[in-house]
Formats: sequence, structure tokens, C-alpha cells
Amino acid sequence: MSKSSVSQSSASKSSVSKSNKTPSCDDDYDPHSLDVIEAQERIQQMLVSVSESETVAIRDALGRTLSEDVLSTINVPAYTNSAMDGYAIVGSDLGKVKSFLPVGIAYAGKPYNGSVKSGECIRIMTGAPICDGVDTVIMQEQVNITEGNDNKIILSGSHKPGQNVRKKGEDLKQGSAAILTGRHLTPSDIGLLASLGIAEVSVCRKVRVALLSTGDELKNVGETLGEGQIYDSNRYTIYCMLQRLGVEIIDLGIIKDKREDIRAAFEEASKNTDAVITSGGVSVGDADFVKEILAEMGNVNFWKIAMKPGRPLAVGQIGKSFFFGLPGNPVSAMVTFYQYIQPAIRQIMGQSQAENPSIQMKCVSKLKKRPGRVEFQRGIIFTDDNGEHVVKSTGNQGSHVLSSMSEANCFIVLPLESGNVEVNSLVEVQPFDGLI
Ligand code: AMP
Ligand code: MG
Repeated sequence: MSKSSVSQSSASKSSVSKSNKTPSCDDDYDPHSLDVIEAQERIQQMLVSVSESETVAIRDALGRTLSEDVLSTINVPAYTNSAMDGYAIVGSDLGKVKSFLPVGIAYAGKPYNGSVKSGECIRIMTGAPICDGVDTVIMQEQVNITEGNDNKIILSGSHKPGQNVRKKGEDLKQGSAAILTGRHLTPSDIGLLASLGIAEVSVCRKVRVALLSTGDELKNVGETLGEGQIYDSNRYTIYCMLQRLGVEIIDLGIIKDKREDIRAAFEEASKNTDAVITSGGVSVGDADFVKEILAEMGNVNFWKIAMKPGRPLAVGQIGKSFFFGLPGNPVSAMVTFYQYIQPAIRQIMGQSQAENPSIQMKCVSKLKKRPGRVEFQRGIIFTDDNGEHVVKSTGNQGSHVLSSMSEANCFIVLPLESGNVEVNSLVEVQPFDGLI
């Protein structure tokens, strides 16, 4: 298993490292393109995380970024208690005492307040406090109760002193760090906060992202298509991925391939937002104005990456807003979003970057690939007849084939210098993590 050390969901360095190769006519090497890791690093260096924070109720903190360390206000567990329904005894009696006399009952929320001596026991339920004298719990299934008036307990099986007891503070000590700044809060974190009795937390303010599509050929869903027109799907895939990241989205719709319209849209998009995401118009066609206008209104950090799909990706800034001009082809837009925009938005949100594992796996399809660029092919991980997890291609890898993204559950990441991949070769696989 190899891991990305750059950012969440980004390709691992092993696959996407720089090329030392001299370009030849047989490959797709482009000396003006950044390699994948360099592009990720340039984005990381360019970004600034939001600094404002707000206090919210813990249920509203799901998916937000913690902006202050949370220290444990109490010991967890707060008191030593039983991990089982059973009988609590004095541990040093094990191996010496044959039968134990029950002297009381302890429930969760209703402790036994007496103390217990050698040869005695108490009936105890899961979560009930361990009372004075005892330190060991025998699970109910491992005792026999003697016939007669005293109902003494005889143990079966083997036991160790101290077993089945949860010690005070064994999970979290009072004053220790429970959750650190930068944490993307999950349901488990919210539960942990509740277990500490914490009702509100400080989180980074929500990130605002403006979104628009460019293209004269684009129509909105629900409209009738004319000759040479297509529906705008990018605004839906990107909108939904942004929604999953938990940002505030300003949807500015479809903008025509006209300089004035694009300029006006960028003006509006960059006002009071942290990022602008566009799709289309970043290549070298006669109607591709995005880079040019970005350069006029702000700055272009870079726009070409040695990867497929998604070679043109215009990255820069307009005012205080970071700018990401994604390619128009639907698969390219999703791949670049996943590899670059997702970690970028998480960084702007103030999240500490988690590593996303990629896995080496046998590929049962033959894959076509030219050296000179990293490829993110769409794959399906499945279990073969021998019970082994393997990966296969979704088939047509055209950057317009959105159904390949819909069918896939992973990217097959093919390194810069690799050529075709033969059946049963090991490949690097990046499983989708719930964003797509
Ligand atoms: P472009 O990057 O503008 O040259 O567009 C590349 C290809 O992607 C063209 O075939 C466009 O029609 C298509 N395309 C551009 N924008 C979108 C969009 N929002 N939804 C679906 N396809 C698009
Ligand atoms: Mg276009």
C-alpha cells in the first residue's frame, strides 16, 4: 500500500513523480505541463485558510472544521465500571475461594454502596460502578448458582484478576486533548463531544464558493435542446461534490463564450467568495477565454498538467478569491475536482490534511496508455472467483463518457512513464471516498 503525502485524495507520489525521460515522438510528454505533484504543491502554497470562526451546537458542527482544541472536561469513563453483566468479586479470591456469597446488586445508574469482602460477590450489570473491595467481574455465562437458600456462585472457565472492568479515565484523562484543531468533524466526533457533556464547539466559518459553467452549446435541464446543444452536467456534478464538502454554494448558472459576459460573471463570482469554480473554456480553442480573462482580472498560477484526463486546469486568483477553471469535458471536470479542488477546498476550510490510502491491486483488463502523463482511468474493484479483490476497467475512457464515472468505484492511477498495462499486472488504485 502506498500513501499520498501531499493531500487527501490526491494521487500517491509513487505514481505521479516527475519524469526524467527525454521526450520522444511516441509519447505525450509536454515540457510546458506541470507534473501532478508539482501542481498539488503549487495549489497548497497558494491557498490561505479561513481565519474566522463561530460557535455552534454540536449537532450543527457535523462536517465543519474544529477551530480550537477540545480538552476532555472529565475522565472517560468517569468512574470504574463493569464491562459485562455478571458477578463482581475480589480478584485475589480467584483460585482460592470455591463459592461466593451474593451480598448486593449494582445497576448502571444505581450503585451498590456497601463494600465486599473475600468470599462475597455482588450481582453487577454492564456500566454499573465497581464498589469498594471488588476489582474483577465474572461474566454471567461463566457462573453456576448452587441449589439451596444461600444461592452461592461457583465459577466455571478460567479468569484473571481485573478482567471485564473499565477503568476510570482509560479512554480519556481529564485535561487531555480529545479532538484537535483542524478536525473535519464526523458523527463519531460529535458523539465523543456529547460524551464529554460539551454542548457547543468553535468551528471555522463556512467557506463560500461561486460556481458557473461556460459554453455557448450549454442548456439547462428542463429546456429543449437545439441543434448542436448539450445539457450542462458539470454544474450538477460539481455542485453535488461541493455540497458533500459542506460549503456554501453560489450558483451563477451558464455563461456564454463571450468575453464581456465572462468578465462580468467573474466579477460577480469573486465578490465575497473564497473560491470560484468554472468549467469549460480553459483549453486552446478559439472560444476559450477563461485563462485570458483570469490573467486580466487577477493572476494565473498555472494551467497545464501532465495528466489525462484533465490536462487544462486554470489555477489562479481574482482579488481574495482562489480561482479554479476546470476543463469542460465531464470526466475531466470530475477528475480534476477530485484530485485538486477537493483538497484545496478542505485546506481553505481549515482542515488538517488526511492521507488517503491507495492500494496496489491486480488489474484484470488490458489498459491502453501512452508515456508522458499520469492517467486517472476509471475502474471497478470487485471480488473475483478466488475471493481476491481485483480491479477492471470501466471500458471506454473518453473524457466525455460520464457513465464511466458513474459505474466506477475507483481511479486506476497509471504513472507518468508507464505505457500499456498487460492483463494481471499490479496497478495503483485510489478508491472513491464518498465524494463522487
Ligand atoms: P471546453 O473545455 O469548453 O472546450 O469543452 C470541452 C467539451 O466539454 C466540449 O465537448 C463541451 O461541449 C463539453 N462541455 C463543456 N462544458 C460542459 C458542461 N458544463 N457540461 C457538459 N459538457 C460540457
Ligand atoms: Mg467551451
